[in-house]
Amino acid sequence: MMTVTERFLRYVSFDTRSDEHSETVPSTDKQRLLGAALVEEMQSMGLSDVSMDENGYVFGFLPATAGQEDRPVLGLIAHMDTSPDASGENVSPQTVLYEGGDIPLKNGDVISLEAFPFLSKYVGQEIIVTDGTTLLGADDKAGIAEILSACAYLAEHPEIPHGKIAIGFTPDEEIGCGSDHFDVSRFGAQFAYTVDGGEIGEIEYENFNAASATLTVHGVNIHPGSAKNRMKNAILMANEWIGRLPAAETPSHTEGYEGFYHVHDMEGCETQATVSMLIRDHDRALFEGRKRFLEELTAFENSIWGEGSFELSIKDSYYNMKEKILPHMELIENAKAAMEAAGVEPIVVPIRGGTDGARLSYMGLPCPNLSTGGANFHGVHELIPVPSLEKMVDVLVNLMKV
Ligand SMILES: [Zn+2]
Repeated sequence: MMTVTERFLRYVSFDTRSDEHSETVPSTDKQRLLGAALVEEMQSMGLSDVSMDENGYVFGFLPATAGQEDRPVLGLIAHMDTSPDASGENVSPQTVLYEGGDIPLKNGDVISLEAFPFLSKYVGQEIIVTDGTTLLGADDKAGIAEILSACAYLAEHPEIPHGKIAIGFTPDEEIGCGSDHFDVSRFGAQFAYTVDGGEIGEIEYENFNAASATLTVHGVNIHPGSAKNRMKNAILMANEWIGRLPAAETPSHTEGYEGFYHVHDMEGCETQATVSMLIRDHDRALFEGRKRFLEELTAFENSIWGEGSFELSIKDSYYNMKEKILPHMELIENAKAAMEAAGVEPIVVPIRGGTDGARLSYMGLPCPNLSTGGANFHGVHELIPVPSLEKMVDVLVNLMKV
């Protein structure tokens, strides 16, 4: 039987970087290569109804053991793509025995203990790191490896009773599209977990409410030599609008449950300027209040510069899954118990972002998120301790037995 580490190392050899500028589904064809390899592996493990659909979603099912057919179907979900933020090509994982201090990478870079003090928890453990030139892909190939290792274990231990388990591997999570084409009814689970979190023990069921906003500013351009009382410089107008945002409510000044406005892109000239921003808040009422504030700010600026000078469009992206999980808190209790039984201390943390599970929860599939054990996702300092990979397999086996 392949170990979880062997599985993981095999999956990271596939470059599955997604592309936010692509119009295709999945966003990159190369994700299908990992999908096809997973289909083959799942079939050889004896999972049933294994398939990859036209959008690149891989589904398969571990049938219930005798007498357990009436139990609710539990889903386990991970994503196959890696972040566009760093290269995922020719990933060259290195396993090091961590003895403390900085971890030197092959290309001369280091993973510094000062920058990442959590490393001290892993002294004495084998840690898988990159060669410093790519990301690792623990996000989320560790999740895939853990789910399939847990399935393989149960497939080889038919004496352990469990209900039917639905397995789903999605493309394009990193570009926010992982649940766009997820066929919840074909998946057939009553509830599920994404295995896509960070350090071992994390359980997440609260995420941001999220929206994106685009401000378009219309100015009036005139030769600067004769512009007095006539030029309306869209750049300066946009700057004025930004200047009236609450200065301390930005990502760099907030943590925990605190929300923010995040201006992340701006371009323009005297005639027209556009500002792109994100709006985030865990609390739904505060979230709605933030959107209202931007509307009022825009109306205020129009009262100064003339009606139609500022146009704001706001689009909701996703909502806090907490609303959908609260009626099913047994999902959180079961996850905690599964961790404790594996010797893992559960840590419930709010996500300062979204997950595929948040969208799925609003599509009728309540879906909290569990740790993979990895850390420093989306960059060259990504890593995962081998014992965390192994522990998460135990946790998932415990969860499937519940
Ligand atoms: Zn992920």
